[in-house]
Amino acid sequence: MHPPSRIRLVVVGNGMAATRLLEELLRLAPDRFAITVFGAEPHPGYNRILLSPVLAGEQAPEEIITHPADWYASHGITLRQGVRVTRIDRWRREVHADDGSVVGYDRLVLATGSRPIILPLPGAQAAGVVAFRDFADVEAMLARARAGAPAVVIGGGLLGLEAANGLAARGMRVTVVHLAPWLMEKQLDEPAAGLLARHLAGRGITFRLASQTEAIETENGEVRGVRLANGEVLPATLVVMAVGIRPDTELAQAAGLMVERGVRVHDTMQTLTDPRIYAVGECVNHRGVTYGLVAPLFEQAKVCANHLAEWGIARYGGSAVATRLKVTGIDLFSAGRFLPEAGDETLLFEDAGRGVYKKLVVRDNRLVGACLYGDTVDGAWYFDLLREGTDIGALRESLLFGRPHVGDAGTDPKARVAALPDGAEICGCNGVCKGEIVRAIRDKQLYTLEEVRAHTKASASCGSCTGLVEALLAHTLGGEYAAKPSAKPLCPCTEVSHDEVRRAIVEQGLKSIPAVMRALGWKTEDGCAKCRPALNYYLLAAWPGEYRDDPQSRFINERAHGNIQKDGTFSVVPRLWGGLVTPQELRAIADVAEKYRVPEMKITGGQRIDLFGIRKEDLPAVWRDLAAAGFVSGHAYGKALRTVKTCVGSQWCRFGTQDSTGLGVKLEKLTWGSWMPHKFKMAVSGCPRNCAEATIKDFGVVCVESGYELHVGGNGGIKVRITDLLTKVATEAEVLEHCAAFIQLYREEARYLERTAPWVERVGLNYIQERVVHDGASRRALAERFQASQQHAQRDPWAERAQGREAHEFQPLAHME
Ligand SMILES: Cc1cc2nc3c(=O)[nH]c(=O)nc-3n(C[C@H](O)[C@H](O)[C@H](O)COP(=O)(O)OP(=O)(O)OC[C@H]3O[C@@H](n4cnc5c(N)ncnc54)[C@H](O)[C@@H]3O)c2cc1C
Ligand code: SF4
Repeated sequence: MHPPSRIRLVVVGNGMAATRLLEELLRLAPDRFAITVFGAEPHPGYNRILLSPVLAGEQAPEEIITHPADWYASHGITLRQGVRVTRIDRWRREVHADDGSVVGYDRLVLATGSRPIILPLPGAQAAGVVAFRDFADVEAMLARARAGAPAVVIGGGLLGLEAANGLAARGMRVTVVHLAPWLMEKQLDEPAAGLLARHLAGRGITFRLASQTEAIETENGEVRGVRLANGEVLPATLVVMAVGIRPDTELAQAAGLMVERGVRVHDTMQTLTDPRIYAVGECVNHRGVTYGLVAPLFEQAKVCANHLAEWGIARYGGSAVATRLKVTGIDLFSAGRFLPEAGDETLLFEDAGRGVYKKLVVRDNRLVGACLYGDTVDGAWYFDLLREGTDIGALRESLLFGRPHVGDAGTDPKARVAALPDGAEICGCNGVCKGEIVRAIRDKQLYTLEEVRAHTKASASCGSCTGLVEALLAHTLGGEYAAKPSAKPLCPCTEVSHDEVRRAIVEQGLKSIPAVMRALGWKTEDGCAKCRPALNYYLLAAWPGEYRDDPQSRFINERAHGNIQKDGTFSVVPRLWGGLVTPQELRAIADVAEKYRVPEMKITGGQRIDLFGIRKEDLPAVWRDLAAAGFVSGHAYGKALRTVKTCVGSQWCRFGTQDSTGLGVKLEKLTWGSWMPHKFKMAVSGCPRNCAEATIKDFGVVCVESGYELHVGGNGGIKVRITDLLTKVATEAEVLEHCAAFIQLYREEARYLERTAPWVERVGLNYIQERVVHDGASRRALAERFQASQQHAQRDPWAERAQGREAHEFQPLAHME
């Protein structure tokens, strides 16, 4: 039984979109819902994609179960396995199932997937005619698969070829009948499809292209063969129909939801007709598009979970899709419009001897399609260029030869993956980029493909990126691929890692940069631009008040206490506590802007005012004038606390549950000036509508009726990361203590230049909760150390410099006439 206070969520369908939705929901709002899942199949959640390897005998059925029954139980989810929902009563908000049960809902998600199309041929109902969609189909095929027996696959698309390959691997004599003149015509052009057909023919598969099936020949209700329109009869003891799928919308339609080739949904994944009912997966029609690959469905699941959890900040905008065939030993990739239209240009590379074919379609200097066979390492790169609409004018000459030839990375496969940018998508199914995989390999010390799969999900779905992931492993671990790698050195000046340096500073009482370098055997005399700022920070964090900051070990922005802009001038951001500002303050800022002829002013993303175009030598005077009006530095340039963004909260807003602005001011007063491993941002929202976007901040507070939800590890940068829920507390005092403790743990343990998002992922939320939430003594000790360090940190660097500190930094070397 679920606790009565929870919102009742019913999910219809237990396929890949549904299980991903559950995972996301458990992450965002583990206690919000009483969840019931109906799955018509008599199995718990499994990876449908891997039915192909199961058919081919490459994987055992139990290996592809992703969510065993006890997973549901352990998360308090009621799984109705083998039970089909037959009716939705929207009036009463109930679903009725084929076992007679009725379950009420507050929110309903349809994840019913697709049904395979069965051609209405004479004889199509005979025993031995199967589709290729679920476990039952695979079992039916395996029951009939006899070595040497004939099988016919109708349909030469992705699925048909995977079925043909699987049955051939079981020893059957397989013929593929395909209506179009070449295989996979939706993904490949004729030459690439020709190479594919030749390769598959080598595995004993024969083809009837441009052929129409007329009837299934039967005997005593059993399949005996397939008759083609030209009269030829292909003998068969098994016929697999793989001619397409149709979104399963019967239930939705009967419930009066709007259905047009799929259940129509908004960008929030709510159905157009009924906002209480969501739909995700292959049953969906989003902006006129239905998807049949998992990557877009997983994105939909993420957005749906976000809205069910009432975070309300995600939108699904549709997906670009790329195709890889996962038949072992065949490398094939296609994306976009690979059949050129009038006005397109085509770049072609063909090496029939090696079985390599590459075609790129370009329009107006932008890649619009790619079709690769035999060498697909650059597929991810092409896909990125295509999705981002990059101008390829400058790359054009070497584009076909792949990314390594654009740079100077050579042709060795390891160098090729090395040349991919961090953001290049490696695993399309799970949306995992190179950077994430490399970071996981390094930080979590992963050695094997299985470990990478477990930690990043890369290569854990269709497996077609396995080669790339292995190359990344080899590349990242280098000679240490098989051996245990030692921790990565901090920089080339030393053999010692970040963590070892931090430990030594404390354990050996090292209190200056030269002392650290001496004690740890630095290889260079003065260090470099990588280790000096890190050591400076580690010493500051370890010995607050005692260690004297070394300006020469800081980057220019921190040395000059302003952001250097592209023309060499600086921008200045005074601190506005919690984003509040008075008319006097605005006037003072305006006076400074006029006096120093500030060419542009702007409101920053963190609700502060930015004054642009200030010459370096004017900075101390600007700061002096701002200080006179009561301003201190906003640290908009620093690896430090930047801003605390707030909404208006209960002070003004109809929805506000608490004084979010007031709390934001308190948080900023508590934490300003403190140096961190990286920039640090906070926000406070007055209610779950979350106008201050607290769930993409390093530390975010969402006020609710009963108190405050504390969120950590968010990031709105290149790769947006939504926070993890740290805990919920009842009072402002607890918010401040948890915040101080979290920051101090981050300051003491994260590596320099590591933001909270990767840090939380590296050390794990559990560890942080243990130190900051569950262990009160640990929390108090951290918070006290933070408070102690703040006595020394909360000195305004601007005021000090306005009074002459580091004056040489701001004196021009020479005035050019
Ligand atoms: C053999 C095979 C290989 C594939 N290979 C790839 C690949 O390499 N890459 C890729 O991206 N995609 C691949 N796909 C496609 C991918 O598996 C689908 O896109 C994905 O599974 C769709 O997810 P879904 O949750 O929308 O539907 P499904 O996974 O089909 O789940 C829907 C579930 O809902 C159940 N259901 C339906 N109606 C009801 C009801 N009324 N009550 C209860 N339960 C109900 C169904 O029984 C089914 O279990 C492959 C598919 C197959 C069949
Ligand atoms: S988050 Fe809530 S309280 Fe704050 S402004 Fe938005 S709706 Fe109002």
